[in-house]
Amino acid sequence: MRDVVILGSGCAGNTAAIYAARANLQPLVAQGHEPGGQLSLTTLVENFPGFPEGINGPDLVENMKQQAIKFGAEYVSGSVTEADLSQRPFRVRIDEERVETRALIIATGASARWLGLASEQRLIGRGVSSCATCDGFFFRDKKIMVVGGGDSAMEEATFLTRFGREVTIVHRREGFRASPIMLERARGNPKIKWLLNAVIEEVFDVEKGLVTGVRLRDTKTGEQRTEEVDGLFLAIGHVPNTAPFKGQLELGKEGFIVSRGGARTSVAGVFHAGDVADRTYRQAITAAGAGCMAALEAQRFLEAEGPWQARRQT
Ligand code: NAP
Repeated sequence: MRDVVILGSGCAGNTAAIYAARANLQPLVAQGHEPGGQLSLTTLVENFPGFPEGINGPDLVENMKQQAIKFGAEYVSGSVTEADLSQRPFRVRIDEERVETRALIIATGASARWLGLASEQRLIGRGVSSCATCDGFFFRDKKIMVVGGGDSAMEEATFLTRFGREVTIVHRREGFRASPIMLERARGNPKIKWLLNAVIEEVFDVEKGLVTGVRLRDTKTGEQRTEEVDGLFLAIGHVPNTAPFKGQLELGKEGFIVSRGGARTSVAGVFHAGDVADRTYRQAITAAGAGCMAALEAQRFLEAEGPWQARRQT
């Protein structure tokens, strides 16, 4: 039996762990299927306050984890596969292990969104990727496409110009969600080409087991054409990791946890932190702030039930 279990070890989960550990709640942190969260897949983070020269994403999350461990947080590998939030203590299954907890912080984040094409799915890891930092190295001197019009697409395309001989950004319209600074950086890069008002309808070649090209459709004219390409990177946003909580917590249309103010969810004693409930800001610093809020709320929730020391002895 735990006082606090934290699901997820990105910025939100790690910050919740620091605060919960410093409140002497000895939190258990399930690291999730992507330990360190999305920052573990990035390179230099330039906008996290306190690091004027920037800091590498993996270093930032690892520092947070070590800080939490220093104050007594316990980390285990594994992801939540089942949860029973219908009664207290809450029950969660982390891989094969079942854990009971008085309060739960869900910081499971969000995972890369795919186009959903059968050919795309068959070629993941064979030229189709959602992580330039992880896979860019394999595309030295190759022709690369990046799909998306947000900051991720700009960042990934810019990063991939280190490897590819040509990087084309494919975006379904002319307007961009990307921030002006990221967009300008990409526009100023001579290796980046642009294909606007275009969507990918098929990825070739499933039979060969590697990416050789794509079929594109112009969203304005409907015209189709094929283009040769060696690598396809998807940067079209993320979907929240809330499947185990479906039907138990109020979730919005796209699956994000609906906040009841602060870090509260529709179930008392269950709190949210980070991208799992945030479809607007999705920044490392906002996730960290949300982790702090969730831990403070969990602490207050437990305190309202009586002194935790007494409970722990029972
Ligand atoms: P995003 O801002 O939601 O952008 C997703 C892009 O993918 C949009 O342009 C969208 O097109 C397109 N898209 C979505 N579904 C698609 C589909 N099925 N087919 C084709 N295109 C599709 O996501 P993001 O770029 O991952 O950014 C998420 C957040 O992280 C943002 O707040 C961003 O600022 C932040 N971020 C910051 C940095 C940084 O500061 N270094 C780096 C990366 C991300 P439409 O525009 O037409 O909807």
